[in-house]
Amino acid sequence: MQRLQAYKYELMPDGQQERQMRRFAGSCRFVYNKALALQKERYEQGEKKLGYAGLCKLLTEWRNSAETAWLADAPVHPLQQTLKDLERAYTNFFAKRADFPRFKKKGQSDSFRYPDPKQIKLDHGNNRLFLPKLGWLRYRNSREVLGVVKNVTVSQSGGKWFVSIQTEREVEQPIAQGGAVGIDMGITRFVTLSDGAFYAPLHSFKRHEAALRKAQQAMSRKTKFSTNWKKAKARLQRIHSRIGNARRDFLHKTSTAISQNHAMVCIEDLQVRNMSRSAAGSTETPGKNVRAKSGLNKSILDQGWFEFRRQLDYKLAWRGAWLVAVAPQNTSRTCPCCGHVSADNRKTQAQFLCVECGFEENADVVGAINVLRAGHARFACEVSGAVMPPAAGTHRSDSGAAQCLH
Ligand SMILES: [Zn+2]
Repeated sequence: MQRLQAYKYELMPDGQQERQMRRFAGSCRFVYNKALALQKERYEQGEKKLGYAGLCKLLTEWRNSAETAWLADAPVHPLQQTLKDLERAYTNFFAKRADFPRFKKKGQSDSFRYPDPKQIKLDHGNNRLFLPKLGWLRYRNSREVLGVVKNVTVSQSGGKWFVSIQTEREVEQPIAQGGAVGIDMGITRFVTLSDGAFYAPLHSFKRHEAALRKAQQAMSRKTKFSTNWKKAKARLQRIHSRIGNARRDFLHKTSTAISQNHAMVCIEDLQVRNMSRSAAGSTETPGKNVRAKSGLNKSILDQGWFEFRRQLDYKLAWRGAWLVAVAPQNTSRTCPCCGHVSADNRKTQAQFLCVECGFEENADVVGAINVLRAGHARFACEVSGAVMPPAAGTHRSDSGAAQCLH
């Protein structure tokens, strides 16, 4: 089985390289924005949008024109890749997966990608990496890179530069160990398992919120673009990247722990994006419960449910295990003991009490048990029993039902 994996390291560029990287990122941003402006213009005039090949042709023109000749100083492949990114942003928009592509701003996800492995040299023993037009770059070597290098992305965050090396390698098809489990994601408990275990939320954002607000206010009091303003901005960016790091660390630890012990994980197929969008509504249809929802949204985004699912998905796949997404129908209102479906079963946010049979349990655990059942049902429909890993067939977590008092 093919395993794709990315390794990220902090770069230690010299002054010249840092200036170059900033310029390359700027050139990519310029090309992206110019191409986006052009596409918008075409759209408004009722013309068809240009494809990737058409945009690349324009890029060559821009690199050759006297007005934007400085674009020729940047490596050409990363500039083309940024056009590819724009193309993907358009595709995602038309497939209703994303908002309309936005113009890039300086300092926001400054990055560029080298797609051609032939132009990249990795000298792991000497902690250095060769990239076109940058030369040999030193990096903080924290772990060995496994596999063949496919592409390399250089990015800037919080004033530091990083390199992400995407690799591919052949690994033996693993056989997952452990049983099946259902999980329920929530605000008060980040993840609850159907066997009763749970992970408390990190609330990385909340914890740093006061510091963030203070830094924002400090920056707003300074004269824009002054030395003190730049200092305040750098401080704000450091807080942002600290929040990001804490969150990433938390999500990785949690997704690793869950993927290590289970052969099948069932999860509610929540549209995180939809949930997080509906709060404000639009001018025509203002959202309901805006305040309550935006609080919830903040929590959802803060906790990174989407990223958590993404991690869980690939980590399970690496171990030969399954992630099964199920429709979130009545998972919070169905009694796992007698099957009675009623909103009355859910007296409070935290407690589940069946009005029919009296089964009582933490509401999140009930949700997780129901998700597990729905997952088993879906899995049985899609995969024949022969290919199903044996562990996944056991209703291990149905022990919840055994506790039924009725
Ligand atoms: Zn019941």
